[in-house]
Amino acid sequence: MTLTNWAGNYTYGATEVHRPRSVEELRELVARSPRIRALGTRHCFNDLADDPAALVALDGLEAAPEIDEAARTVTVTGGTRYGTLAQALHPAGWAVHNLASLPHISVAGAVATATHGSGDRSRNLAAAVAGLELVGPDGSLRTVRRGDADFDGSVVALGALGVAARVTLDIEPTYDVAQEVHLDLPWREALAHLDEITGSADSVSLFTDWTGDSIQQVWRKTRVTDSYALRTDFFGTTPADGPRHPLPGIDPVNCTAQLGEPGPWHDRLPHFRMDFTPSNGDELQSEYLVPRAHAVAALEAVRALADRIAPLLQVTEVRTIAGDDLWLSTASGGDRVGLHFTWLPRQPEVAALLPTIEAALAQFDARPHWGKLFADADRDLARLYPRWDDFRSLVARTDPDGVFRNAYLDRHVL
Ligand SMILES: Cc1cc2nc3c(=O)[nH]c(=O)nc-3n(C[C@H](O)[C@H](O)[C@H](O)COP(=O)(O)OP(=O)(O)OC[C@H]3O[C@@H](n4cnc5c(N)ncnc54)[C@H](O)[C@@H]3O)c2cc1C
Repeated sequence: MTLTNWAGNYTYGATEVHRPRSVEELRELVARSPRIRALGTRHCFNDLADDPAALVALDGLEAAPEIDEAARTVTVTGGTRYGTLAQALHPAGWAVHNLASLPHISVAGAVATATHGSGDRSRNLAAAVAGLELVGPDGSLRTVRRGDADFDGSVVALGALGVAARVTLDIEPTYDVAQEVHLDLPWREALAHLDEITGSADSVSLFTDWTGDSIQQVWRKTRVTDSYALRTDFFGTTPADGPRHPLPGIDPVNCTAQLGEPGPWHDRLPHFRMDFTPSNGDELQSEYLVPRAHAVAALEAVRALADRIAPLLQVTEVRTIAGDDLWLSTASGGDRVGLHFTWLPRQPEVAALLPTIEAALAQFDARPHWGKLFADADRDLARLYPRWDDFRSLVARTDPDGVFRNAYLDRHVL
């Protein structure tokens, strides 16, 4: 069996991938497995999901999302993708608070790695989790709910605490969003007015290659109310005269509708449409989450490396993320700015450059995205997460024999 991740830059070492058809089957499988890891939709760029023994994918656990209108929650099985969830929520009049750049990823895999979208008031996707049903190392099923002692450590858990058979998320009444793209934001405006720019819509992304005097594109997504109006004057930019792809030279056919045309949240919050390949497909990704207070200084520090970054880069996306309390969330403890890099698929050269970027960002306590590429050498991730030791104790208590441990966890966390 040869199984690769979505980007094709990592081949899983697992010899078996199981696909249980029910939670009972999943529990029996985990109970008899000495080592096993949950696999989502394989969108991580590293070995986080892997295990040399066995993987379990939950896309065979077919069950429709269950909406509880009174509790304002929806419960999905661990393999459900956000795109599938949206198809159930929106017609029933409901929505989630935010989405990542693509709807193709599984809910369980996204929350396990603190996947996020953008927005000054938008917390990462894990912050919507109200409860989890986790299959533990002995096959027992344990429910963890918001408010429980270990809850804040159990959501962004990197697959280390067990297999999430079901995930319950907060929902809210459905809403429409309009998306506008502005071209050529002068760097001097961006650095002088960053807070006004990122606060100008519910979700704002800046796309840059770091070179030149301007940021190539600004994507703004606004919840539509009666007072919504297209912005034509925006910090020296020009409104895009047609749809754009964030990556230069690529047909925007796979992108969600722009030009201020209102549409349902799930057709506007992600940049990419469910029925197409997201982004480019031929790429690598890295991302660093920096405390919001250091946003301008961090942008300046990376911009100083533009000449080294640009030859390997397809595009950088700058986003904002509201803080949360989840122990291993990259936004735990306060608001963050995310500096994301979509690289050309030249891994040795990218790997050689990452330590330089990390050195430039080290003074800002930048946290690497768990699911993307970062340098392995001598990182002290523990220093970046105040509840690090609590997480390690939780893992030791929950999985004393290391059924869910793998090389990534040994290297970076345990
Ligand atoms: C094109 C592209 C665009 C992206 N855009 C964004 C973005 O906008 N924002 C962002 O933050 N990230 C983004 N990412 C990264 C992506 O969201 C994360 O890597 C995410 O974890 C992928 O989810 P997955 O289902 O593919 O997880 P996988 O890669 O399959 O697994 C990730 C982790 O989740 C665990 N896991 C999966 N299922 C379960 C389960 N049922 N129970 C317990 N643990 C489980 C695995 O064990 C593993 O540790 C993007 C990636 C790609 C390829």
